[in-house]
Amino acid sequence: MTYRTRFAPSPTGYLHLGHAYAALTAFEAARQAGGECLLRIEDIDRTRCRSEYETGVYEDLRGLGLGWPQPVLRQSDHLADYEAALETLRARGLVYACYKTRKELAQAAQGAPQEGDAVAENGPAEREPSWRLSLAAAREALCAKWDRLGFVENGHGPDGETGPQTARPEVNGDVVLGRKDIGVAYHLAVVIDDARQGITHIHRGHDLFAATHTQVLLQGLLGLPTPVYRHHALLLDDQGRRLAKRKDSKSLRDYRHEGMDAEAIRALIAATPKA
Ligand code: GLU
Repeated sequence: MTYRTRFAPSPTGYLHLGHAYAALTAFEAARQAGGECLLRIEDIDRTRCRSEYETGVYEDLRGLGLGWPQPVLRQSDHLADYEAALETLRARGLVYACYKTRKELAQAAQGAPQEGDAVAENGPAEREPSWRLSLAAAREALCAKWDRLGFVENGHGPDGETGPQTARPEVNGDVVLGRKDIGVAYHLAVVIDDARQGITHIHRGHDLFAATHTQVLLQGLLGLPTPVYRHHALLLDDQGRRLAKRKDSKSLRDYRHEGMDAEAIRALIAATPKA
């Protein structure tokens, strides 16, 4: 089996040092394994993605000395596939319409949303529903397979998790899989593309560790393979805050315009604390 991983940025802003670390980690793992690292543009959220940020991704990665197989998969070119998957889940009774806003749900219940929190039928006519994955229906559909859902963590999760892990989708509750404004949500698109592209190994930051639990469940429901995961620590700024969570982190583009080449960026990443 060919070792195949991917770097899958969302063009919602210019890449920062944390993205460079994630990209270099994935590309280096592929090189060491004699495999390949694909680039995927995760641009389904049309409210936040912009073409100049996508162009920025290509420039920044080239600036790091990276190259990738063509063609690049852009999720916005495959919206019909994600819609079809959502429709399949809907037809199987695995998603339900939720008419409450995130704010209303947060006020109604502390913790992850569940089906009872939502108005499943007769929602206000003026509101478009979001479509939430029903953990209760998923558990019923999978029967005994539910208890066997899991994945291998080849690195270390944020709490040191390593080796075989049991999937705990309840940590995220009934996640939104579709919404009128953003279309089909990240969790669904990502599992479809990881399978479509034959991704065997996923490298990504600790900020996405919790997402893995939901994604493994979706793989189980859709009959898709579960890759091996490796989550890495995140770079910290000089005040100890994780770059992945920050909107105002200095962009790679700015570093480049200041004259820093790929080697200097790599050295800066190596010298930056991570947690
Ligand atoms: N597009 C996601 C992000 O930029 C990453 C997806 C993934 O690695 O699974 O945060």
